[in-house]
Amino acid sequence: MMKNIVVLGSTGSIGTQTLEIVRDNPDLKVVALAAGTNVTLMEKQVREFAPKVAVMWTEEAAKDLKVRIADLDVEVLSGMEGLLAISTHEKCEVLVTAIVGMIGIRPTIAAINAGKTIALANKETLVTAGHIIMPLAKEKNVAILPVDSEHSAIFQSLQGQPKDRLSKILLTASGGPFRGRKREELLNIQVEDALKHPNWSMGRKITIDSATLCNKGLEVMEAKWLFDVDLDRIEVVVHPQSIIHSAVEYADGGIMAQLGAPDMKLPIQYALFYPDRRPMSGKRVNFFDLGAMTFEKPDMDTFQGLKLAYEAAQIGGSMPTVYNAANEKAVSLFLNRKIKFLQIPEVIEACMQNHKNILMPSVDDILNTEAEAYDYIAKHF
Ligand code: NDP
Repeated sequence: MMKNIVVLGSTGSIGTQTLEIVRDNPDLKVVALAAGTNVTLMEKQVREFAPKVAVMWTEEAAKDLKVRIADLDVEVLSGMEGLLAISTHEKCEVLVTAIVGMIGIRPTIAAINAGKTIALANKETLVTAGHIIMPLAKEKNVAILPVDSEHSAIFQSLQGQPKDRLSKILLTASGGPFRGRKREELLNIQVEDALKHPNWSMGRKITIDSATLCNKGLEVMEAKWLFDVDLDRIEVVVHPQSIIHSAVEYADGGIMAQLGAPDMKLPIQYALFYPDRRPMSGKRVNFFDLGAMTFEKPDMDTFQGLKLAYEAAQIGGSMPTVYNAANEKAVSLFLNRKIKFLQIPEVIEACMQNHKNILMPSVDDILNTEAEAYDYIAKHF
């Protein structure tokens, strides 16, 4: 049977890998694609995957795309209106949210309301609006299938097990390119150094987040919402080989884990065909070549971003939004060489201290909180 999918962020790292899976599975059909401004790649994707609708974020990019694909019968839309239209498209069955940032919140909510299954990569949506998304998905009986490799591993490790016997989640982390270094050794980190991830090839923003461990912090918050588990039962375990993608410990001490080569295509494909496990080519883990796997405690004194994430999650309400927004802006300042690597957590902490927490923020509150954090950063950094 055909499965119709819509991909938000189709030109990005997750988006292009999703389309590789579509290429290998003829029973997946692309209904619509959305991207920011990369018209050149979008044109290629539209020609290959023949969606009914293509969305570009800016009007200018949409106009450009329209001209380029004038020979095709494809509708071109722009902006939030476009994202909302394709997320709720009558033909859409699974929405892959592979966009970066909080821009994903509204389309995800609209899709859940329209009864679409969500394959969720856009962790910012759950970090900031988990208290809205999860109850809504439950009410609408909509599945939220994690695409993030750690959360997919946890999800896979929960299959067929009694949920009320779960005692803790072991969220693995590679430790990033600066694992083992102390603060003094991070003073002069350059953008190029931080963009070199040891195991995973990902978008720029998340690669920096992996170097600061802020990505792990965001993942802790994502796991809390996805699996309805208290923070004190989510333990980050540094595992530099990135073979165990995460694990779950049960009441009897038994640990279930998912292992595999570090390749995002597996979790993406698992979400698209859940509960099936489709064949997939690619690297396999060879235990004899691997020889050993190692584990360490995360160094939260050096990588303060992780400590701040636990604090933001503990406070709850709109504080995770401040964490996420401040981090997003700080990463962009770092990538533009306006601040230093170690200032990323400083920016986050300053914004968190400045914020007056809202306990159950609405979507508008969340977006206002984001704007407030951006304003604060513009004035102080
Ligand atoms: P990329 O930066 O590689 O891609 C982002 C995508 O979103 C691009 O297609 C981009 O379009 C599009 N986009 C950006 N802004 C808008 C907008 N306003 N409207 C429409 N589209 C927009 O990011 P990643 O693929 O790395 O990450 C995507 C999400 O998945 C993030 O939330 C990340 O945390 C999460 N994730 C990523 C993993 C990975 O391995 N990469 C692993 C786990 C989670 P354009 O190209 O035109 O700018």
